[in-house]
Amino acid sequence: MSKYKITKNIKYPVKALNKFIIKNITFTRSNLIANEKELIDNILKDFRLSVTALNTYLDCPYKFKLNNLYRIPTAKKPYFSFGTAVHKALEKFHKKYQSENQLPPKRYLLDQFKSALTQELLTTDELKERLLQGKRFLNKYFDLHQPDLKPALYIEKFFGTSSSPLVLDNIFLTGKIDRIDIIRSKNKTVKVIDYKTGKKKTRGQIEGATADQNGALKRQLIFYKLLVSLDPTFPHKVAQAELDFIQSPKETGKSGKEVFHITNKDVQELKTVIKKSYKKIKNYQFNRTVDHAICHRCEFKNHCWPTGTPQTQKQN
Ligand code: SF4
Repeated sequence: MSKYKITKNIKYPVKALNKFIIKNITFTRSNLIANEKELIDNILKDFRLSVTALNTYLDCPYKFKLNNLYRIPTAKKPYFSFGTAVHKALEKFHKKYQSENQLPPKRYLLDQFKSALTQELLTTDELKERLLQGKRFLNKYFDLHQPDLKPALYIEKFFGTSSSPLVLDNIFLTGKIDRIDIIRSKNKTVKVIDYKTGKKKTRGQIEGATADQNGALKRQLIFYKLLVSLDPTFPHKVAQAELDFIQSPKETGKSGKEVFHITNKDVQELKTVIKKSYKKIKNYQFNRTVDHAICHRCEFKNHCWPTGTPQTQKQN
């Protein structure tokens, strides 16, 4: 194992970096300390911005610093393990469908889910509960969507890898799209699809038009269109973008697919958000959020608020 942490460009050995974080950052909580700018500059040399990282920065710049730049490890919550297993099962299922050009049986999907979930770090009770939950969701999901499932064009497609970088004004972008389906071969149009394992959201929530949401989900779809448009090796154009809420068929008896047409204006606006955010990152702007609703569900809340997370939703 390398004695250097995170990237080859970081000049800090693991021990020194950990000591640095534990002794200094833990106690400063948001102010930059001596040598920290140098550390951040080194990390940013190899940094590729994903939409998840961008959304984290927009939620809380300080969380972005801890999570996306320093990659401070946190315990994986059981629902994340569940989400990972559902994604893995659908990936395996669609890969088989794609390679054999024949719809695999439902049993195959359920078996892949079980196999993926058992590889996650869960207690016996959590494993039992999540196995049952996943079986119920995927059972109904398969039954409802079986008639319209087609072999995918791409499954788990990466954009912005080190061998094929995607750059927006010196900002390296990256992302992985769960599935890409062809819409029309003739004009090379595709639909990008992202699976969601949480509760179904309304279109208003997805677009950030409600008080409880900030548009992170729609931003994700716009980001995917941007990635595709920046990749000169990808011959298709995004005509549709879909969020597929897997638990909806079980919970409501209806499809959980929400399809959007992403406009060029959407993409232009996102480019502005990316550039502004990245400029702030380069200028070491990592203030803690004042929206404490975010803190309540944050992995770093005990670090930021050792005496308890503030109850007020927003502060000026
Ligand atoms: S607890 Fe709040 S302030 Fe601290 S990193 Fe998380 S979201 Fe940011």
